[in-house]
Amino acid sequence: MVSPLSGAPVGRTISIVVPCFNEGHVIDAFLDRLRSVLAGLPELRAEIICIDDGSSDDTLARLQVQAGQDARMVVLELSRNFGKEAALTAGLEAATGNAVIPIDADLQHPPEVIEALVAKWQEGFDVVQARRRSRDTSSTGQRLGALLFYRLHNSLADPPLPRDVGDFRLMDRCVVDALRAMPERRRFMKGMFAWVGFRQTVVDFDVAPRAGGESAYGWRRLGGLALDGLMSFSNVPLTVWSYVGATTALLALVYGAWIVLKTLMFGVDVPGFASLLTAVLFMGGIQLLGIGVLGAYLGRVYDETKGRPIYVVRRRYGAAGAEDSHAP
Ligand code: UDP
Ligand code: MG
Repeated sequence: MVSPLSGAPVGRTISIVVPCFNEGHVIDAFLDRLRSVLAGLPELRAEIICIDDGSSDDTLARLQVQAGQDARMVVLELSRNFGKEAALTAGLEAATGNAVIPIDADLQHPPEVIEALVAKWQEGFDVVQARRRSRDTSSTGQRLGALLFYRLHNSLADPPLPRDVGDFRLMDRCVVDALRAMPERRRFMKGMFAWVGFRQTVVDFDVAPRAGGESAYGWRRLGGLALDGLMSFSNVPLTVWSYVGATTALLALVYGAWIVLKTLMFGVDVPGFASLLTAVLFMGGIQLLGIGVLGAYLGRVYDETKGRPIYVVRRRYGAAGAEDSHAP
C-alpha cells in the first residue's frame, strides 16, 4: 500500500456504507449528490454499499434501478428491519475498501463532507470523525436528553463517548477489521467506535434538517439505545447494589444500636407501625430494583449466548449480479 503521507495514493478504494430504512423519497437525490462528490475524488476507486433494512416503501426498488446503472453499487436486502446498528454492521462486513465511510441516506450528513474526511485520511489518520457543529435541527427536549445521556454515560462507562459525533466518519481498513472482530450481538456503534481507539481526528460539519420523512428514532427507541449503550460499556449499574446494600445495613446497625440504648435509658416505647411499614416497603422497592437491573444484564447475556446472526441478508444485488446469501 502507498504510504498515506506520500501524497495522493493511487488505486485505493473507499466504501460508502448507506443504511436505508424507508428513504424512497430521498434516496435518488442522495445518490446523485454522493456521485458528484465521488467524481471530485478521481484518484480513489469507490464502492457504494446500500443496505435496505426491511423498508416498506419503494426504497429497494429504487436501489435496484440505481444498481443497474452504476457498477460501483452493491445493494444488500435484509430479510426484515433489524435496526440501524445491524444494517451498519452488514455494510461494514460487506465493504472491501481501504477506508469505509458510513453515512445516513436522509441527507442529514452532507456527502460533500466526504472530501474533507478523505483529506484527513490521506494525512495519515485512521479515524476521521465528522462532528456536528450545532444541534440546531434538534428540539430542546432532544438536546436536554442528549446532555443527560452523555453526562450519565461518561460518568459510568469507559471509554467516554465524544460529544456531537455519530456514525458519520471515515475509518481505515485496520479500524474496520477491529470492529468486525467484536462479536457482540447488541451493537452500540457509538461505543464500539470509541472502544477500538486508533489515531483519531475530527472534521466539523453543519447537520442538515432531514430531507423529508421522519426520523425512525422516537423517544422509546432512543431510550432503548441509551440503555443498550450504558449496559454494553459499564457494569456500574450491576455492582452499585452492593454499595447500596452495605450502606443501608450500616445505617440499620446504627439505628438498631440507638434503639437499644434508648430502651435501656428511657424504657420501652410504643412501636411505630408507620415507620416500620415505610422501611419494609422502601427496602422491598430497592431490592426489586436491584433484581430488575440483574435481569436486564442477564437478558443481554442470554441474547449473546444464543449466538444468532446480527442480521440476515435476503438478497444481494450489484456488480456481481443477484445472488442468495445469508449472514455469516
Ligand atoms: N435506518 C436504518 N434502519 C432503521 C432506522 C434507520 O437503516 O431501523 C437508517 C435511516 O435510513 C438513515 C439512518 O439509519 O439512513 C439514520 O436514521 P434516522 O434519520 O431515522 O435517525 P436520526 O437521523 O434521527 O438519528
Ligand atoms: Mg436522520
